[in-house]
Amino acid sequence: MIKKAIAVMTSGGDAPGMNAAARAVVRTALHEGVDVYGIHNGYKGMIADDIQQLNSRSVSDLIQRGGTFLGTARSKEFKTPEGRRKGFENLQKRGIEGLVIIGGDGSLTGGSLMSKEFGIPIVGLPGTIDNDVWGTDYTIGADTAANTIVEAINKLRDTASAHRRIMIVEVMGHKSGWLAMTTGIAGGAEYVLVPEVKFDLDDMCHELKEAYERGKRYSILVVAEGACDAIGLGAVVEEKTGIDTRVSVLGHIQRGGSPTVEDRMKASMLGEKAALAIISGATNVVFGFDAGKVVSINLFDAVNNQKTLDPELVRLARVLA
Ligand code: ATP
Repeated sequence: MIKKAIAVMTSGGDAPGMNAAARAVVRTALHEGVDVYGIHNGYKGMIADDIQQLNSRSVSDLIQRGGTFLGTARSKEFKTPEGRRKGFENLQKRGIEGLVIIGGDGSLTGGSLMSKEFGIPIVGLPGTIDNDVWGTDYTIGADTAANTIVEAINKLRDTASAHRRIMIVEVMGHKSGWLAMTTGIAGGAEYVLVPEVKFDLDDMCHELKEAYERGKRYSILVVAEGACDAIGLGAVVEEKTGIDTRVSVLGHIQRGGSPTVEDRMKASMLGEKAALAIISGATNVVFGFDAGKVVSINLFDAVNNQKTLDPELVRLARVLA
């Protein structure tokens, strides 16, 4: 049971809804009579002692904002035992007895190491637009990013149709194809290329050519950045099909923007759960969603297992193309 203080941080890539989650952690802890500290800029700030006590007003006017008011960063130093010790000592000297980490796989791995090395209670919340954390079918920010991408695809479709072009849309996802697959289906793409599934370039170009010969006006290809080089792909597709092809790399626009209702709601629910759990003495837990319900996942299971792309999504994308 925690009596004095907890801390909350965001880490890794920013994701819309991180603010809503941190706000819920802060307000719940204060409601329970426990002090809350905010760690700025992830593990980098923990090591640099960039830590500040928060009050209810610190998280006002936040729920609708993308990004993270705490800031986020990547820290090489935290990957070393000495770096983690420095970070831990900065928590210890303030009497911080437990830590809520909002971040992706890497951030949660860092937390699992702190738990093992120093015994500090850790509760994780999956915060990443990639939706690639094991044990949960939802991660904070993925829904907003997917909506941003689909909006862009809708616009690209208009111009592709006007010119009878092939439009290749590169979306984020170095190792995970969830964003590409989901937005490919929701955006009505003809092909979705993801790192998890092999594709045959010659077959694809042949099918595209045939479809245009039958009168097709345009095609949308959604490509995860980890599947192949989209710019290079555009040149090859144009050469092999003889069809005017354009590539649109959506880039960081996918990370920004006001979170959707789904991200605000789920992040708020997860934030409350995380604060209550850590205050009541839980540790090594990640909260996520399974079939619409909040579930708790063992932290070590979450970081030691690899989430795979749902083969049902892959199948559906093919059927509907
Ligand atoms: P995203 O999915 O958005 O990329 P992430 O949390 O996976 O988010 P990472 O860059 O992998 O992002 O991790 C964030 C930070 O967590 C790293 O900069 C590092 O400080 C810490 N971290 C990551 N992996 C480890 C590890 N194996 N050991 C210790 N710390 C780690």
